[in-house]
Amino acid sequence: MNNNEVKLKLAIQKSGRLYEDSIRLLKECGIDISNGVNKLKADAMNFPLEVFFLRDDDIPQYVEDGVADIGFVGENVVFEKNKKVAIVEKLGFGKCRLSIAIKKNENYTDANFLHQKKIATSYPVIVGNFLAEKGIDAEIHEISGSVEIAPGIGLADVICDLVSSGSTLFMNGLKEAEVILQSQAVLVKNTQLAADKEALIQKILFRIDSVKKAKNNKYILMNAPNDKLDEIIQLLPGMKSPTVLPLAKKGWSSVHSVINENDFWDMIEQLKKAGAEGILVVPIEKMIV
Ligand code: ATP
Ligand code: ZN
Repeated sequence: MNNNEVKLKLAIQKSGRLYEDSIRLLKECGIDISNGVNKLKADAMNFPLEVFFLRDDDIPQYVEDGVADIGFVGENVVFEKNKKVAIVEKLGFGKCRLSIAIKKNENYTDANFLHQKKIATSYPVIVGNFLAEKGIDAEIHEISGSVEIAPGIGLADVICDLVSSGSTLFMNGLKEAEVILQSQAVLVKNTQLAADKEALIQKILFRIDSVKKAKNNKYILMNAPNDKLDEIIQLLPGMKSPTVLPLAKKGWSSVHSVINENDFWDMIEQLKKAGAEGILVVPIEKMIV
């Protein structure tokens, strides 16, 4: 690789919940990272990209400062850190919610429940905005970890923390009362990038888009009697229209199409009813439309 070539600098989490999915997404975009011993930085072998491994909390700052040009980081961290970065694209992983949780035996009607309460959280900015928006006067107590034990030890009345299954809350005698933010990993970028770096981001975005589209769609193949073809074709969306090929068996055709994951089970049922047989559904690796 030419040394004078412009390289895009990407910051990802060095270890933790976003690490594996960040590396996987790059791989699915055809970008391989050399796993050298240097865990601070790595070069992509087949794309002008340099990857920095950082704590997720530091990523917005590094991107604002231009130490990194782009980053993969949770929306929860982006909103909490409130740095000058642009959110470019949702990445479809690292999904979680930031929720208010209260003691199991209490009764939450609405946000007014929080009036005059002490709220333990690692997200003082997001919680502060939420309270201001609702016009609620409550005390925020910032703690950096193990927020869920705060009510049990009398440090706070309620908490606001990331929740996925809710089992951590349950084990600590708490229950989820209100979701204040749905979050997932996003691609953020520095707001003052040169045109050559913007062009590289567009290249990566194009690849991310085709990976995401592919994940939401399935390739479907089936056999159909020719006299049922019209009805079956009506059911199928396809990228343009379904492909229909004659089978060796007279009076039968093979029909190929692309269907959305969400319509999947409904669609299969209808296709069977319409006379389709031998239905195969296969994953799509990349999808460019
Ligand atoms: P670091 O050492 O980088 O600061 P951390 O302990 O802050 O790590 P993790 O627990 O690895 O962070 O979570 C990183 C991000 O993953 C969170 O900020 C959030 O965006 C997302 N996340 C949190 N909880 C979950 C979850 N249960 N499922 C999926 N993603 C989650
Ligand atoms: Zn963190």
